[in-house]
Amino acid sequence: MDSRFNDSVPSLRYIDEKSGDEYAVVKALHMSGGDGANSYSANSLFQRRVLSMAKPVLVKNTEEMMMNLNFPNYIKVAELGCSSGQNTFFAISEIVNTINVLCQKLNQNPPEIDCCLNDLPENDFNTTFKLVPFFKKELMMTNQGSCFVNGTPGSFYSRLFSRNSLHFVHSSYSLHWLSKVPEKLENDTENVYISNSSPQSTYKAYLNQFQRDFTMFLTLRSEEMVSNGRMVLTFNGRNTLNSDPLYRDCCHFWTLLSNSLCDLVFEGLVSESKLGAFNVPFYDPNEQELKEVIQNQGSFEINDLETHGFDRAHSKRDNGEDNYDARYNRAKSVRAIAEPMLIAHFGEDIIDTLFDKYARHVTQHANCRNRTSVTLVLALTKK
Ligand code: SAH
Repeated sequence: MDSRFNDSVPSLRYIDEKSGDEYAVVKALHMSGGDGANSYSANSLFQRRVLSMAKPVLVKNTEEMMMNLNFPNYIKVAELGCSSGQNTFFAISEIVNTINVLCQKLNQNPPEIDCCLNDLPENDFNTTFKLVPFFKKELMMTNQGSCFVNGTPGSFYSRLFSRNSLHFVHSSYSLHWLSKVPEKLENDTENVYISNSSPQSTYKAYLNQFQRDFTMFLTLRSEEMVSNGRMVLTFNGRNTLNSDPLYRDCCHFWTLLSNSLCDLVFEGLVSESKLGAFNVPFYDPNEQELKEVIQNQGSFEINDLETHGFDRAHSKRDNGEDNYDARYNRAKSVRAIAEPMLIAHFGEDIIDTLFDKYARHVTQHANCRNRTSVTLVLALTKK
């Protein structure tokens, strides 16, 4: 059993574990910083749409939290996996606005609110912190309450906050990232993630790692949250239409990355063994797998669990992926999330060529309609 489960000391897995490729990949897990052409900040429109999609659940749970806690005069909110750029402020603006509007409506004093922005220490917090004055200015124009922004660097698979201190936790598109690449992956040389040709043992290893990580996450948050506090989490998950847990549609973003890396192996730019040793610390759960972990862990009750279709071809510009801009935009959005990990493992030289290949693979799969991927929106109450 993983030692973290017997240990009340926060996990230091990210900084003290074995060295080597796997370590390098997980340590490099963060989004591309800054606000340049290849940054996460400039290539996270899709994640912004996910935030909009989850807004009704976020607003409803914020209101219910305030009413169930009987309008406290202090609220502490955590935004976990905030990344860098404007998306960081989307959810906390909604939470703060919802609280203030509700207080006005019901003639209650607005609380003082602490907003804690969390991500891994390698995250580009500076790009985010530079936006804090704009966020505060906007809030001041519409709200009377006060809001304070703090940074909380660290892994959400470790304790981040003091006991019984959090009233509301939000995390969007972050919890599908695992604490590590699963152990005992059988040699699946051509794939960076579960694919149709993977052995069952690969699925089991990934599921097992997700169950351990998500259980740990719930246990740690249950220590940090007050009773009747709320948590809204969104995941990149998979639908249950296909019962084969190995099935991923042909244009799944990790499958396209595997295909692009295989092209580089074919051209002699990457060795087969180097590709074989690269796997992503990621898992896309389905509704059932999420429910099971929550029920077994036992500290939270499920209020909402929604599955939303995962349509990247949303805007007019994205329609028909043979459009040059659209396919490069898709390649750039994957580059913004995977580039630091890829550089840590393969080096910088292959990156431009790799994502040219990726854009070409997007075109080849332009007609794929049966997407496996969905967005799962989950709201929980701390018992
Ligand atoms: N919430 C943002 C960012 C999503 S990207 C948005 O909706 O746009 C996912 C983020 O999760 C990345 O910034 C990544 O660094 C962070 N992340 C991944 N694993 C993490 C961990 N164990 N602890 C804290 N943050 C983590």
